[in-house]
Order: sequence, then C-alpha cells, then structure tokens
Amino acid sequence: MRRYPVVLSLFLALIALTPFNPALAQGPGPARASADSSFLKPGRDPNQPIDEAYTRKIHEYTTEPFFLSPLVDYLPASKTVPTPAAVLGDIAGAPTKLPYSSEVYEYMRALEKASPRVKVYSIGRTEEGREMIAVAVASESLLANLDANRAKLAKLADPRSIGMNDAEASKLAADATPVYYITGTIHSPETGAPTALMELAYRLAVDESPYIRNIRDHLITLITPVVEVDGRDRQVDIFRWHMAHPDSTYPRLVYWGHYVAHDNNRDAMGLTLNLSQNVLDTYLGWKAQLLHDLHESVPYLYDNTIGDGPYNAWLDPLLTNEWQMIGWHNVQEMTRMGMPGVFAHGDFDTWSPGYLMFMAATHNGISRLYETFGNGGTAETQERTLDPDESSRTWFRQNPPLPRVMWSLRNNNNYEQTGILVSLAYFANNRRQFLENFYEKSKRSILKARTEGPAAYIFPADDPRPGAQAHLLRILQKQHVEISRATSPFTVALPTTGGRSSKADSSKKGGSDTASAPKTRSFPVGSYIVRMDQPYSRIADALLDYQYWSPDDPQKHPYDDTGWTFPEAFDVQAFRITDTTVLRASMQQVKDSIRAPGGVSGSGSAFAINHNGDNALITLRYRLPKADIQMAEEPFDAAGQKFARGSFIIRGVSASDLDAATKDLGLRARALAAAPKVKTHPARAPRVAILHTWLGTQTEGWWRQAFDNLKIPYDYINVQEVARTPQLRTKYDVIIFPPAGGSGMSIIDGMPMWRNAMPWKKSELTPNIGLLDETDDMRPGLGLDGLDNLRKFVAAGGVLVGVENTAEFAVDFGFTSGVSTHSARNGQVVGSFLRTNTVDDASPIAYGIGDSLAVYSSEGSSFGVSNMASGRSFGGNGDSERATGRGTAKDPDVVQGRPALAPKFEAPDREAVKPWQAAPVTDEQLRYPINIIPPEQRPRVVLRFADASGLLVSGLLDGGTGIAQRPVVVDVPVQQGHVVLFANNPVWRGETIGSYPLVFNTLLSFDNLDAGRKLDKR
Ligand SMILES: [Zn+2]
Repeated sequence: MRRYPVVLSLFLALIALTPFNPALAQGPGPARASADSSFLKPGRDPNQPIDEAYTRKIHEYTTEPFFLSPLVDYLPASKTVPTPAAVLGDIAGAPTKLPYSSEVYEYMRALEKASPRVKVYSIGRTEEGREMIAVAVASESLLANLDANRAKLAKLADPRSIGMNDAEASKLAADATPVYYITGTIHSPETGAPTALMELAYRLAVDESPYIRNIRDHLITLITPVVEVDGRDRQVDIFRWHMAHPDSTYPRLVYWGHYVAHDNNRDAMGLTLNLSQNVLDTYLGWKAQLLHDLHESVPYLYDNTIGDGPYNAWLDPLLTNEWQMIGWHNVQEMTRMGMPGVFAHGDFDTWSPGYLMFMAATHNGISRLYETFGNGGTAETQERTLDPDESSRTWFRQNPPLPRVMWSLRNNNNYEQTGILVSLAYFANNRRQFLENFYEKSKRSILKARTEGPAAYIFPADDPRPGAQAHLLRILQKQHVEISRATSPFTVALPTTGGRSSKADSSKKGGSDTASAPKTRSFPVGSYIVRMDQPYSRIADALLDYQYWSPDDPQKHPYDDTGWTFPEAFDVQAFRITDTTVLRASMQQVKDSIRAPGGVSGSGSAFAINHNGDNALITLRYRLPKADIQMAEEPFDAAGQKFARGSFIIRGVSASDLDAATKDLGLRARALAAAPKVKTHPARAPRVAILHTWLGTQTEGWWRQAFDNLKIPYDYINVQEVARTPQLRTKYDVIIFPPAGGSGMSIIDGMPMWRNAMPWKKSELTPNIGLLDETDDMRPGLGLDGLDNLRKFVAAGGVLVGVENTAEFAVDFGFTSGVSTHSARNGQVVGSFLRTNTVDDASPIAYGIGDSLAVYSSEGSSFGVSNMASGRSFGGNGDSERATGRGTAKDPDVVQGRPALAPKFEAPDREAVKPWQAAPVTDEQLRYPINIIPPEQRPRVVLRFADASGLLVSGLLDGGTGIAQRPVVVDVPVQQGHVVLFANNPVWRGETIGSYPLVFNTLLSFDNLDAGRKLDKR
C-alpha cells in the first residue's frame, strides 16, 4: 500500500461503504415522504415505455452484459423528444458513426426545441471560427429560474457580497441548486464523449425514473459536448477516410486544434487558447461547483480525480477531501453494478494546475477527470488486449479490467454515462454539503490573506519590463483575478524567511541568501497589487509562487511540468508580501485590460527605444517595414536616459506614426535631436520559415501561436518541402525548427514507407484537413536531399534555429563544429525552471536579457563546446590535485637523481576551464591544426546554466552538478551563416515570455550575429 497510512485507508474504506452522508442527504423534494428512498436506486420506471428499437441496439452494440448498468441498459421513449438516432441515423456509440460537431449541436438544439428541460448556449469560437456550446439540462422550473438561482450561487461564490455571513450562506446553500459542468473530447482521438453526452442529455430530459428525476430536480447539468471543436472535425474526417479505405492505414491526426494537440489540456494556467478561456468563462459565469472533464486513454474507467501525490500545494484541503468522497463513491457504486475495471488513485499526480479541469480546483470548485477506454480515433468494435499492468489487480484496483475483450464505442459510452449519472446523483443528494463547502472554500480564499498568507503580490511600477508585466497581469485578469493599483507610494515589510521572494532580488546564485536582505521596501505610485483577500486568490498564488518538488518525493514520475512560477518565466518582478498592512495601502481596483504605457516623448527626428527584452520590439520592426531601425552594439546615454545594448535607433518615420505604433504596443520611444554616436547594425525584418515534420506538430504549435500573437510573419513549411527546395536561401533568412520529437534519424527518415500513402489533404471526405499544411503522403521525412538543402541554406548565410531535439539533430548531422549535446539523468529535471547566467552579453542574442534569466528545461539538456572539430571537450580544469609523490599536497614532486627542472623545461600553467568554456588550443594541437576550428567559426556560448547552488528556480532538480554551468544557448557560425542552438525551450505554452527575446533577437540580428564578438588569438 505504498505511502497511504492505515488511518487514511480506513477513512477511505468508510467513505466507500457510505454512498452519501445520510445526515446531509436531501430527498427529492418536500412532496416525497422522507422514508421514500426510491431515488437512491438506479433503474428504469416500469410505467414509462422504452424505445424498443434503440434499446435493442444498445444491447447489440454492447459486447458483454457486464459492460451495461441499470442506468443505461434501456432508453426511455418519448413522443415529442427526438433521440440521438434522429441525427446520427443510429444510436449513440454505434460502430459506424462519429458525428461532426455540427451534428452534435444540431441534436442538442433539436432537444432544446422539443424539451423545456434543455437550453443551449453559444459560449464562444475556436481559433478557426467554429462555435463552442454549453447545454443546460434541468427541470422546467429550474431552467425558468436560472437567473435567480445564479444570483444565489454568486453570493456563495463571493462571500464578501453577504458580509461573510455564515448564517445567510447556510440559508442560501439550503435553497440554491448547484451546477455540475461536464466537458467532452478535449483530446480529439478520444472520440466517445460527444455521443455519450448527447444520450445523457436525452436521458436527463426525458427519463421519469426516480433516480433521474431526482437529478433533474436538484441539479443543473451543464454540458460542453465538444471542447476541441477544430480537432473533433478533423478527427471525424480521418474516421470517414478510414471507413472509405478500410484496407489502408489511415493518416495519424497530426493536428488537433489550430495550434496544439494534447497540450490543449495544459493551458489552464496561461489561458492562451480560445477553448480554455471559453470554458473558464462559462464555468465561472454559471457559478458552477464542479468541472468534470472526459478523457479516454485508460481501461475501463479510471476516476483520476483523487489521483496520487503530490497534491497541488495551493488548494484548500476541503477540496482534496471532496475528491476522495466523490471518487470513492463512484468506484463503489459502479462496482456494485458489476462493472469491472472501475478504479481511482492510479499514478496521476495533481501537482500542475495546467489541466482544463483544474480551472475549477483553482477557483474554489471541484475538479474531476475520467479516463475511460476509447478506441483511439475509430468507432469500430475491436478486440483489445491489455498490458499486464493494466489488467492486474492492485490495492486501488481490486476489480481490474479483463486482459482481453471485444471493445466497442458503445461500451465506452455506457461507462461514461453510468459514471456521470452516479456522480450527478451523488452531487444532487449531497448538494447542501457541497454548496456549504463551496461557500467555505470561497470564504477561506478571502481569509487567506490574513491566515496562511501571503497578503498580496506586488508588481512594482518601475519594473524595467512593463510589457511583460502587463502581459502577466492580463493573464491574471483572464483568470478573473482582481488587480488593484497603488494611488500613492507605500512601504511594507519584506518576509524574513524563505529564499527567493522575487526575480528582482535573486542574485546570480539564486538569491537564497537573505541575511543581508533589506527588511522593508517602498513601492512607487502606480504599482500593481494582487490582494489575496479575494475569492480567486488561489489561482494567483499558484501562478505567482515558487514550486519545490523534492527529489525525495515518493512520486518518481511527475505527470507534467513540476515548475511554472510566472514572474520568473516572464522575467518580471513580483514581491510576495506577508505583511498584512499592504492591504491598507491606498489603491484602486483596475477595471480595464492592463496595458504597458507607450508613445513618443521629446522632440527630434531620430528616436531611441531602450531594449528591455520587450517582445513588442520585434512587432514594431515588422509594423514599420520602411523605417530605418538600427540596434546599438554598446550601451549609450541620450536625453538623460540610459539605453542598453540592442536599443533601437529609429529614423525615417514620422513622430506621429511612431507614437501611434508605440502607444499600441506599449513601447516608450524617446525623440532625439540627433542619433547617438554608437556602433550599430541594422535591425532587420527577416523572412522567416517555421519548419515542421509530419511526425508531431504539438510543440511547434506553441511557437506558431507566439509568432501569430506578436504579428511576426512566417512561412509554415514541412520537411518534404525543404527536400524539394535547393534554393532555400533565396526565400528565407531564418529557418526555425522548433522541437519536433524523435531522433535526428527519424527527422530524416519520416515514417516507414511500407503500406500505403497517407494523405493529409483537403478532400470531399476530409473537408477540415489541410488548412495549416498539406501533403499527399505524410510518410517521407527530410531525407538526404533535405539535409543537404538545409546545410546549403546555412552555408549561404541563412540562420537555422534548433531547439532541444532539433538542436541535437543539427549537432548530430554535422551542421555545427565544436558542439556536443549532453542529457541529464532520467528524472533529474522534469519540466523545471532553471537559472542561467549570461556568458557573452555583447552577443545580439542576449540583448535586453538580464543576467539571471530563468529558462524552461524539459529534461535538463545542455551542451559542451570545444575549439576542436570533434566537439569533445579536451583539457583539464586546471585545478587538479598533484600526483602521488614526496612531500605534502602543496609541494612539488622531486625526481630522484636528477637536477631540478630549469624553467625552459616546465610546461606552461594550464588555464582553468569552466564547464561552459572550450579548453584553449594547446601547442601540441597546433602542431597539426587540421581539427582546430578557426577562431571566427568557433561556437559562441551566449547563456549557461547557473552554478549548482543557485540552479533551481522552480520545480524538480535532483542533484544538478552535471547540469550546472553548462552551455544552454550557443551560437555557431557556419560559413556565411549561423546555427543557433537552444538546450532550453524558449517558447513553451505561452509561459516563457521572458525567454522569447532570445529568439526574436536572433531574428532581428540574423545577419549580424557576430556583433561584439571577441575572437580567440589562436
Ligand atoms: Zn485525454
């Protein structure tokens, strides 16, 4: 039983034996006698006729009787309300049909038309313009009184509105009806939820059994049947292609949403995707209590709500208790119905708040997630054989899935519906307790400022990066967090314990030394204050705080990123303040979307903009294509202001045009009487391509999204196109190859060429495919022609950017000399933020970057550099101990029977070589210099990882001595061009705003990357 102490196990067992707390249970209404418990028993009302044909099909498509339950083994008949068959042409879960989103919506709207118990709401659009909907199902009277009920729930959601009056809250909790929000098919190859939810909506609207009526009368069920709508429609295309070509291997769903695939369920922190914002706004707008997200990758029903440790550390324990209650009740009831393979716990940790369901957890609600057993993109019934570890009995899975069964989409729909109905009933029966908890959690989120703290986070008005600061604050606003602004300067005490309180006071070594830290700090007027005495304080705290994942944690397989700390990731200052006097500072709540101030000040025909790493700088470059924009290679002073390296000096644009552009972009431009005398080079607007493989487009999607958001134009090209284009340099200045997954060899080879061609192309069968890119056959990779064309591109002056595995590809396939790649031990770093130091601040790539930038490292990769072509590092570190011999450790050795060495015989002292440095060229190497890289072609290290003691910023770092001080960003001149290598991923999930400039600087100076370079003498 691993790490669950006996007491907890007993507690869980007790919960499992108790379907709900009888003391708190509420019957279906005053009309029903309290002794009547029929609403507890699942099963049909014998007085209501069933839809015979539909019910027959349910049994036909279900492969074993024990894959049914009394809740779904029939369909009630209705004379007026259409069943899903009206739109599907067959029942939900039929083996030949996956409906498009439009068909799902058509059915939901038909339900709305036919039943007063259903209402359909449009909740927004996807990136590609498709509609998202939410369907409310409840009794006629509940739906007629939605607004009044919402007003009650709103008071529980924001206890300040009732003066934190517990008695009034208790009355409201007894009276109000909770909202249970279900979301389906966020992951496109997990295809079952839409039909399950169509049928579920029908059952909830039509079924007259006491069990279902009880749900309908006491709970508002809200359903978004398709979360990833763009991906759903593409998935249905693929299924249609498959049905039309039954003997062919169907194309893999390489694109789901417009930007990302599986990671659409990692966006609940940054809220960069429309689906995230639409679901969050719906969830909070309805004042819902629970968000239940449906997935389909584990047999047969894994309720991972309880999951495994470590739990997210910013949640109220009341919530984590609720997970236990609901999860174990679910397992218990479905086990009672005889359905095998229903379990909880498993190995999912609930540490990261990035999952869609976690929107509820971080906003005082309850997050839930099911993994049922899908068929991976098809609706067909297929024989499935499980891995032994999926079908074995273990402590949390006493009735495991069967090793081998025929499995149907209908089975999957049975499990999904049964699990949800059991949950809805439990929630309806315990609604008062859950509403009281909802109020209590909301109240405790407000009290947090004065109980556990912190009292507030402060974002100073004088942050050198106001653009990134505004970006971060806008995300908090999207999270419905209230933000205030100081109306006068104020002073507060700084915490005296704990390491880093912010990026601002972290030193090169990570800032863990607090002995000499100041005790108070004053903040200027205009500083932003995120008060923690507000209902949604927890999401703010979770995003702004540091994460520490102990290397000794029993959980050895973190499910996702272990660190995220937004202020570090955005490279902005944030102060975690525990001094509650901050709450009395004079301030005003900010109502509008927060923007950095911008515009032109002063007069003159030349303008300077300080390079502070603001990502809007590159937007400005593309926005003013005709302007002459130079970048200063050295810092300078002008008009009484200091300008950093890389600052823009702009001519050839009118003050009014520049004023409009900089106001819009939040950049401050200073007009100057004359351009300053400083060495410059042009800031170009390069022709950019973003390159992808057909093996995976997930991680590069975050890059496309960042480029689109910042209005940086680019061509989106694939490896096959590169193979066909010998003259890449005439089309592009920079080719960015974001992480693509897989080995370098697989980038070249693509997929195996046996079997059939796999088109990714728009056609009559596949109308939703081909929007982003297309090919007649996804299988071929870059090939040797493509490799050759890419190398010619660099040789002719192009810049190739490689990141993580594509950097490795560039190194392995001979694009660079003198660089080696280095992987950390497995599990040493898992999605952590690590501190870097700038090695060469004259490199244009480092312009505007401070010295201690935190970067995202997925697995702790780094580089090594050498002056020798092989890329291996030779030479010692210069501080080795002496050999065994006479005297003490500090004494020289003495050879017996020979005079002491004359100076001319002594070898020169070897210089100490640090892990980020190349060992100096030796005399012996110079004797035959064939392998010595000419000084101007040697790798130039821009950033390195910090020393071991200050390496970890946030998340998991086990050890770290093999990572510390090693190169992270390396610029390699290759003939006329450059290859820029990243061991970190600088563009990740909309969270690494602080490291974007490393990429944009590369673009702006693509033809001057050698600026400021000091060459070795030999
Ligand atoms: Zn999934």
